[in-house]
Amino acid sequence: MQEVDHFINGAFVPAVSGARIPRENPATGEPLRAIARGTAADVARAAEAASRAFESWGKTPAVDRSRILHAIAVGIESRLDELALMECQDTGKPLALARSLDIPRAAANFRFFASAILHESSESFLTERPARALNYVLRKPLGVVGCIAPWNLPLYLFTWKIAPALAAGNCVIAKPSELTPTTAAALGDIARHAGLPAGVLNIVQGLGPEAGQAIVDCEAVRAVSFTGGTATGRKLAARCGERLIPASLELGGKNAAIVCEDADLALAVPEIARSAFLNQGEICLCSSRILVHRARMREFSERFIAAARGLTLGDPLLPDTDLGSLISKVHREKVLAAIDRGVADGGIVACGGETPCTLPDRVKHGAFLQPTVLLGVPQESACVQEETFGPVVTVHGFDRHRDAVVMANGTRYGLAASVWTRDLTRAHRIAARLDAGTVWINCWMLRDLRVPFGGVKDSGIGREGGHEALRFFTDTSNVCLSMGEAL
Ligand code: NAD
Repeated sequence: MQEVDHFINGAFVPAVSGARIPRENPATGEPLRAIARGTAADVARAAEAASRAFESWGKTPAVDRSRILHAIAVGIESRLDELALMECQDTGKPLALARSLDIPRAAANFRFFASAILHESSESFLTERPARALNYVLRKPLGVVGCIAPWNLPLYLFTWKIAPALAAGNCVIAKPSELTPTTAAALGDIARHAGLPAGVLNIVQGLGPEAGQAIVDCEAVRAVSFTGGTATGRKLAARCGERLIPASLELGGKNAAIVCEDADLALAVPEIARSAFLNQGEICLCSSRILVHRARMREFSERFIAAARGLTLGDPLLPDTDLGSLISKVHREKVLAAIDRGVADGGIVACGGETPCTLPDRVKHGAFLQPTVLLGVPQESACVQEETFGPVVTVHGFDRHRDAVVMANGTRYGLAASVWTRDLTRAHRIAARLDAGTVWINCWMLRDLRVPFGGVKDSGIGREGGHEALRFFTDTSNVCLSMGEAL
């Protein structure tokens, strides 16, 4: 079993307590890692290192910070195969997906913010009355910040927070999920080799209520960027509120795909299937409710179910695998319970819904679940209302576009949605009325790193991406310079 340690002050160290958390490969059930079980004592060490490092990193010119972040991007790319395998082993996701999505995006996050920081500008205002002055805005790093990430896109989301925090001149105490610690640790090594000074990035491993909570409670931490479940986000926001420090929260979703009567099904069916089942449906942006105009309901359902049945579920190491294992057996039980709830409330399972019985020997003890399509589940069912975070969708009919909008907005979440139509005027009208931080029209998960990213309602507070992230990780001072009398 590989031991995974904290990365504190530029070195790998075990937990102060010496305790470890065992983690198995979810696809095979084999013991995989023994993770340092961080507590407040480990966070205190990280905070001390980060506070010391901030004295020089906070003053390092942007161009020098940018150069190191570029080198980290190169380091990630140069270890693509190794990192992709770690991600595949930790999560159960297909290796091919980790190679094509997770790891390239982690490198892109560093490259993006390495460039973005060079293009930041601050505002100035010429004041005329009651006296002439030049007011300008100074943007300053916050100091030490906390970054807490979930397990579904481990390095992708970890770096999406860390890269802007470092680019803006902060020092970081970061925590990956206890289920997916390995690429986070590797990032520490990559950062060290890229020339990031000791203490600028510290990675504390461990459980949420122990290590994660200790980061949020740590006095040195001046802001927290969090991605994870809504219930955790709520607790974390309450604590940040008490401490009067800003929190950026990217939380759960229950995203709708709206298929209008004129949708191009040759495009919509495979893309919505991808949006439902990519990464086993374990992406916050995955579509989990498909709303179809009744004129196309039968045709869409038949084609969509055929697409779901056509996906290959199995060994994540094989190149043709579309869906690997879920993150754990405990999580699979939760997803199965959501399916049972949908059936108990009147829905029928049109395909999937079970653990496959024909898996290769190597993965026969994994946490697999077939892509699942439910029809006829009522709107008020918990299966439709609550996030499932697995390869499960419900399909519903609508008659009028306004009904589709009401259904799409009819959950407590508001992260993302997609609209499928050939009529762009209609698409814009629907998009404008959706409670969602992102609306895709005739596409899904087409991401431009410059756009604001985040959710409304219970899907979060604050925006990541581009300037939004750099703004979150900085504070402003107004400097007012008297210009005396006009000549
Ligand atoms: P989670 O909330 O259980 O954990 C997320 C992280 O928070 C982990 O690192 C965990 O250890 C830590 N944590 C848990 N309790 C904590 C506490 N009391 N204090 C501080 N940290 C704590 O979420 P998860 O199960 O890892 O991830 C799945 C969830 O993440 C889903 O709800 C999904 O929708 C959401 N998610 C959202 C986005 C987005 O961008 N909106 C992206 C990916 C995942």
